[in-house]
Amino acid sequence: MRTVDTAKVRKAVEELCLKANFELRKDVLRALRTALGREKSARAKGILRSLIENARLAKAKRIAICQDTGMAVVWMEIGQGVRFTGGSLRRAINDGVKAAYKKGYLRKSVVGDCIIRRNTRTNTPAIIMTEIVDGDRVKIEVSPKGFGSENKSRIKMFKPTASLREIKDFIRDVVMQAGPDACPPLVLGIGVGGTFETAAVLAKKALLRPVGKHNLNKSLAALEKELFDEINALGIGPMALGGRTTVLGVNILDYPTHIAGFPVAVNVSCHATRSASRTI
Ligand code: SF4
Repeated sequence: MRTVDTAKVRKAVEELCLKANFELRKDVLRALRTALGREKSARAKGILRSLIENARLAKAKRIAICQDTGMAVVWMEIGQGVRFTGGSLRRAINDGVKAAYKKGYLRKSVVGDCIIRRNTRTNTPAIIMTEIVDGDRVKIEVSPKGFGSENKSRIKMFKPTASLREIKDFIRDVVMQAGPDACPPLVLGIGVGGTFETAAVLAKKALLRPVGKHNLNKSLAALEKELFDEINALGIGPMALGGRTTVLGVNILDYPTHIAGFPVAVNVSCHATRSASRTI
């Protein structure tokens, strides 16, 4: 067994929270630049230029890309040959989030419960997603998620007989209903298959995949490209003020499902699609 001190995890989570909030992912930045070259309207071009400049300033001055610094989603791929030492892993993750949000002057957006809604003032608890994998490494990925776009996400349990057209229409309607509230141009994470909750987790996990990198399954890659073209043809555009760029990317992840079902979840993410990862 390889031992990993949870203090190392705490430090990594802290640094990844800061990096994700200050440095826009290279793939997202690249997609914004590509979109700028594709746009015709002056307004759409102006918005994309502002987003690119915003990302440059955030990185240079170590300030948040967006005022909504999100709820911290922490993904852990834990090799089965790892034994943690140094105390609670959960506490280490939350302490890392707490330290980053304090140190980086990042907005604390978490309320302790949905009814009383008192801010915990630490941006914790984080959402912790763990997966046991082969090997003796620990991969940590932090994706802060803003709720302007999160609130526009949807899931639908289709009948197994649903046509591809019905699925596409559902996804397109999610984007249309999101309108300006989700801060387009968007990145769409789509989860298909599994059970109700698997589809939702897959949809969020799909957002971690670099924009422009397609699913290895040819038919799903084709669906990603078709959705990208069809949604961008809607003309919603940057900040929903018109243009050719409504989505920067469409990422699908899938899982086997039951003969009687076809779950489809869409996790809507904004132009500030953020994440950072490290393997220890
Ligand atoms: S949806 Fe994204 S860009 Fe818009 S406020 Fe939230 S985090 Fe910021």
